[in-house]
Amino acid sequence: MANDELRPNVGVLAEHFSGERRVALVPADVRRLTKLATVTVERRAGAGAGYPDEAYIEAGATITDRLATVSSASVVLSVRAPSDLSSFQPGTLVVSLGGRDEEVARAVSARGLKHLGLERLPRTTRAQAMDVLSSQATIAGYAAVIEGARALDVLLPMLTTAAGGVKPAKMIALGAGVAGLQAIATARRLGAVVHGFDVREAAREQVESLGARFVSPGEALKAQDAANGYAADQSADEQAALRRALAPTLAQMQLIVTSAQIPGRAAPLLIDDEVLARLAPGTVIIDLAAETGGNTSRTEPGETVTTGGVKIIGSVNLPSQMAADASRLFSGNVRALLEHLIPEETSLPLRLDDPIIAALLGADPTLRTAA
Ligand code: NAD
Repeated sequence: MANDELRPNVGVLAEHFSGERRVALVPADVRRLTKLATVTVERRAGAGAGYPDEAYIEAGATITDRLATVSSASVVLSVRAPSDLSSFQPGTLVVSLGGRDEEVARAVSARGLKHLGLERLPRTTRAQAMDVLSSQATIAGYAAVIEGARALDVLLPMLTTAAGGVKPAKMIALGAGVAGLQAIATARRLGAVVHGFDVREAAREQVESLGARFVSPGEALKAQDAANGYAADQSADEQAALRRALAPTLAQMQLIVTSAQIPGRAAPLLIDDEVLARLAPGTVIIDLAAETGGNTSRTEPGETVTTGGVKIIGSVNLPSQMAADASRLFSGNVRALLEHLIPEETSLPLRLDDPIIAALLGADPTLRTAA
């Protein structure tokens, strides 16, 4: 049995980021983690996602205010990187998103904190259970189709009624990574005629295995699979050729879900003004790349822009709209990460030199000094 005084104290914060309803750890995972650590939760941290304080207490956590949570914790969990770092003890390990944000990196290092930036997780089989980008992208892909279906003024499925028939809507996912594939699966379940496209050749089989048609823009497409499973960056000429080649297919669609991204870069422009002008009025585009610049020339993050009868919805943080399940999956990932980080023998230090943890620490200067 672990000696309580030697256990790490894990603190769970309420989110301050505008519109963020998720929580980093749900009560079911608190219960599991109490075998390894003491868990302190900021009051009402789970309220926005439907997890009341009582559920945390029942799972073995202590509820307190933010200051007490932060000052007692050696590991602080948050969905978004916290901005009130002055109350954190130097040396605290902060586990959150923000791993690609230079401002976050500067702030944590100025305060002498260590940051496990969840976006920096290596995409290896070992790390898969800890992959919040995948779990949250799955929810975003599902939510995008639900949002798109609501915004369309046509139905997705084929219907035959006494009053006449309804043709199924045509949908395409541009970008068939984790989010795009889930959008394809969801649109299929809702009865649309579904297409998919990605610059990675490996995506063809995945799109087809979901029963969707993979669109081949022929000569315009050079396969762009990078060694790390992500797409390689494309030149401006390649992107322009791709836009021209995709336009005739896009002109036939009613729902377009875009999620094309290159990690650390601006999102590729797949739909410019010229392509927009060719789309049928009534077409709805859900742009999941809105936060990294958008896949269309008119995307505004968090806004709906209508041009020539085409609605472009710059979706941001869709997982937060489905906060209960999004939190449950996020929390499962974080719990797997903490089980990897915290040795069962509580007198041992946290495993900061493990390859997965070292990658999450990324360019953290504190680690470089220590190494
Ligand atoms: P992502 O969010 O970075 O990008 C989304 C998609 O956009 C990718 O599929 C990418 O190829 C595509 N894209 C980029 N430029 C494009 C363009 N111009 N036109 C069309 N599509 C474009 O990627 P992601 O969804 O996080 O994952 C990418 C890959 O990594 C997938 O194959 C996924 O299965 C794999 N993956 C592996 C692991 C693991 O091994 N542990 C975990 C998660 C994802």
